[in-house]
Amino acid sequence: MVEPIKNITSAPEISREKSVELYAKAKTYFPGGVNSPVRAFKSVYGTPLFIKKGDGAYLWDADDNQFIDFCCSWGPLILGHNHPSIREKVMDVMQYGMSFGAPTALENELAELILSNNSFIEKIRFTSSGTEAVMSAIRLARGYTKRNKILKFEGCYHGHTDALLVKAGSGLVTFGETSSAGIPEAFAKETIVIALNDKEALQKAFEEFKDEIAVVIIEPVPANNGLLLQHKEFLQYLREICTDNGTLLLFDEVISGFRLSFTGASGYYDIKPDVITYGKIIGGGLPVGAYGASAEIMSNISPEGAVYQAGTLSGNPVAMAAGIAQLSELVKPGFYDDLNRKTEVFVNNLLQFIKERNYPVQIDQIGSIFWFAFTTQGTIRRADEIDPASMENFKKMHRELLNRGVYMGPSGYEVGFVSAAHTTDILDKAKQAIFDSLDVVFNG
Ligand code: PLP
Repeated sequence: MVEPIKNITSAPEISREKSVELYAKAKTYFPGGVNSPVRAFKSVYGTPLFIKKGDGAYLWDADDNQFIDFCCSWGPLILGHNHPSIREKVMDVMQYGMSFGAPTALENELAELILSNNSFIEKIRFTSSGTEAVMSAIRLARGYTKRNKILKFEGCYHGHTDALLVKAGSGLVTFGETSSAGIPEAFAKETIVIALNDKEALQKAFEEFKDEIAVVIIEPVPANNGLLLQHKEFLQYLREICTDNGTLLLFDEVISGFRLSFTGASGYYDIKPDVITYGKIIGGGLPVGAYGASAEIMSNISPEGAVYQAGTLSGNPVAMAAGIAQLSELVKPGFYDDLNRKTEVFVNNLLQFIKERNYPVQIDQIGSIFWFAFTTQGTIRRADEIDPASMENFKKMHRELLNRGVYMGPSGYEVGFVSAAHTTDILDKAKQAIFDSLDVVFNG
C-alpha cells in the first residue's frame, strides 16, 4: 500500500545561477548555446544545466546541485560515471600519446573482445560516432546489393545523415519527407518510410519497389521516439521478407547494442541481421561507433573492396582503451542479469504506485531501458500513437524531478537508462522522488 497523498506541493526550485551564466556565454559561441540540440532544454522548463562532474550514478551541475542520473550521457555509461577501471585504462594508454593515424594493438584487442563474444558478426570496422557507423553501413549495403533505395521506419532515429533525416508523409508507403532543412528532395526520394509494426505496409513497399531496396534499417528496440517495443514476430517477419527479396537487414544497435545483452537486441531476440551498427556503450564514454557483418559482406569495404570509408581518428587508441575497459566488465558472468533485474524491480515498484494512485501513466521497459508514457492506451508500438499533448505532463514531472535531485533526459520522447552504479538504495531514493513528482503532476 502506498501512502495517501498529503498536502503535496512543488519542491523549491534549485539554484541555476551558474548554469544560467554559462548558458548566456555559450549562446554567444554556439547556435542555440549547445553542440547538440536536445541539450538546450527546449522541451522542458528552464535553462540547461551545465555539468561539472559525474561519479557513479550521480551528476553535479555548475551550481553544485547533485542528481541521480538516468540520462547517462544518452546511453553510453552503462557502468555509471567515471568508472575507475575505464579511467585507469584511459590514463594508462594516454601516457603513450593520443593518436597515431596508424594501427595499434588496442584496436585488435577491442575487436577480439567483441567478435569472440558475438556470433552475429564476423568482421567489424570502427568509426568515431553512431551517425558515421550508420552512414557507412548504408553505403556498404548499397555497394553490396548494387541497389539505391533504403527503407526506414517512422520514429526510428539513425543519426543525422541526409538519407535518414526523413519522416513519413501520409499514406501507407511513402517516400520520406525531409525532417531537416538542407536535405535535397532527391536524397529523400531514395528513402522509403513506413510505420513500425505494419506488415501490410512492408509487403506493399516490397511489391512497389521490387528489386530496388538495398537495405531495411530498423532500431530493433526503437528508443529515440519513446520506447516503441516491437513484437519479436514483426522483427522475424522483417528478417524473412528481406531474405526473400535479396535486401539486407540492418539492425541499428547504437542504443540496444551491449545494452540489452552483450549481443544487443540481435542476441535478445535471437535474430541475425546482415549488418549491425554500434555506438554509445562500445566507446565507454569516448567517441566510438562501429559496424559489422559477415566476413563476406565486410570484404566490400576499402581497402579490401570498392566501398570507400575512412576516418582520421577511427580506432583512436584512447577511445579503444575506454571501450576495452567497459566491455571487459560487461562480459563478466551475471552482469546483465543483475542490471536488468534491478531495473525491472525499480519499474515494477513505480508501476505499483501508479496503479494504486490510478494515474494515467505507463512505463515501458526492456533490459535497463525505461520510458514514461503519459497515457493508459497500452504498449505504444508506432510513433503516431504518441499524443504530443501528453508531453506537458512529462515537462512538469521533469521539473519536479530536477528539483528533487533526479536528472532525466530533457524530453518526454527520450528514454531513461539504469546503470550498474545505480544501487538498490539509490533507486529507492529515485523512486520516492518520482512518487512525489507524480503526485505534484496530478494533484499539485
Ligand atoms: N542510431 C541510433 C539508434 C541512435 O540512438 C543514435 C544516437 O542517439 C545514432 C544512431 C547516432 O549516433 P551518434 O549520436 O553517436 O552520432
